[in-house]
Amino acid sequence: MGRHQNVLAILPGTQTDPHEIIVIEGHMDSRCDVSCDVDCPAEGVEDNASGTALVMELARVMSQFTFNHTLVFMVTTGEEQGLVGAEAFAQFCTEEGITVKAVFNNDVIGGILCGKTASQPGCMSENAVDSTQVRLFSAGSFNSPHKSLARYTKLQYKEELLASEPVPMTITLMSPEDRTGRGGDHIPFREAGYTAIRLTSANEHGDASNGPDYHDRQHTSEDILGVDTDGDLMIDSFFVDFNYLSRNTAINATAAAMAAISPITPSITVTKFGIGKAIVEIDDPSGYGLYRVGKRLNSHDFDTLYTTSKLVDTFATGFGVPIWSAATVDEYGIESLFTPDYLATTTSIKEEVPQAIELLQNRPNPFDEATWIHFLVHQIPDYTSAVIVIRDGQGRLLKELPVQLKVGLNEVLYTHGYGASGMMTYSLVLDGQLIATKSMVFAN
Ligand SMILES: [Zn+2]
Repeated sequence: MGRHQNVLAILPGTQTDPHEIIVIEGHMDSRCDVSCDVDCPAEGVEDNASGTALVMELARVMSQFTFNHTLVFMVTTGEEQGLVGAEAFAQFCTEEGITVKAVFNNDVIGGILCGKTASQPGCMSENAVDSTQVRLFSAGSFNSPHKSLARYTKLQYKEELLASEPVPMTITLMSPEDRTGRGGDHIPFREAGYTAIRLTSANEHGDASNGPDYHDRQHTSEDILGVDTDGDLMIDSFFVDFNYLSRNTAINATAAAMAAISPITPSITVTKFGIGKAIVEIDDPSGYGLYRVGKRLNSHDFDTLYTTSKLVDTFATGFGVPIWSAATVDEYGIESLFTPDYLATTTSIKEEVPQAIELLQNRPNPFDEATWIHFLVHQIPDYTSAVIVIRDGQGRLLKELPVQLKVGLNEVLYTHGYGASGMMTYSLVLDGQLIATKSMVFAN
């Protein structure tokens, strides 16, 4: 097996209090059909030389600048054998008491062509091309620092980079932590309590079948770079599009740079005010004087992003029960990372006491492969079994997801997969009794 090591470059930050690191990483190993086959050629142009090239390029470019927080450019090993390298580094950070502010994991980040059996969600049909979309995977939904970092990444791209980009990119926040049945290097960091996301191309050129014709271009290839060595009329290295990879590299650079010079995150409290309004109160001991307040209704993205200079401000809630978070803005217009999520659950005296349980709209809605179903519990009733029941448009049972009620916001991930679209319903059922039903739209 030999001894394998992660390779990393450290760009020390100027700020020592607090002293935090931001990690940009991608695994450098690849694999064949059998993940411990040490003899077969597995160049892994797409998975994951693309991520390795991205990390090396950012080390080259970003080392010419100075940042408040320390940047770590890391290529890990042993990803294909079970995220071994990332786990080792996450463990090292914990043992050494290093504060990790954010991890950007880049894995399968340059391919634009859809393969035979691509990992879902992603490309829909073989040979489909997508060179303008990138997927951001992260754990959780409500109050997830990972989803918050994904939103921050998208926001910084929109505000700092988009106007000067000749080819605009679509950044899609995915509901699950990774593609169905797959995992990556961001997971050991999340498990160690650090904030981590995965960036992955929209399309992947995989062939997950393990038959005799196994030919997974994501990892293996008979071709050498730019040459059709095996004479199959396909130049495998062209599955990675270098312009697309460079656009994804810039997305990483912008988010990591902004996080590395960002001001201190405030804290907030939100209370309901009359009907359709909420009061957002910002606690900002650093006194930045300018704030962004984000409101989310039906998606992982902000529906509305307000700018205010008031520490206490009133905003329209719109329909439904929105989720709030806020950031400070410093004198250079740079945003902090956002606060944890906040739900306005305290009702004013004039309002009726809400029912014990409110079933909320799923997020995102419409959704493509997976969505989060939320419900708000004000008071836990006596019950023995609680279940979320999913039905299709004809009322046929699709799935039953058992849940444990807790006071506050409850959430459960529903994964539908691909192959159908249309209206569906989800219901909360306690001991066989229907509490509430809502519809959701499944579209792909
Ligand atoms: Zn990979």
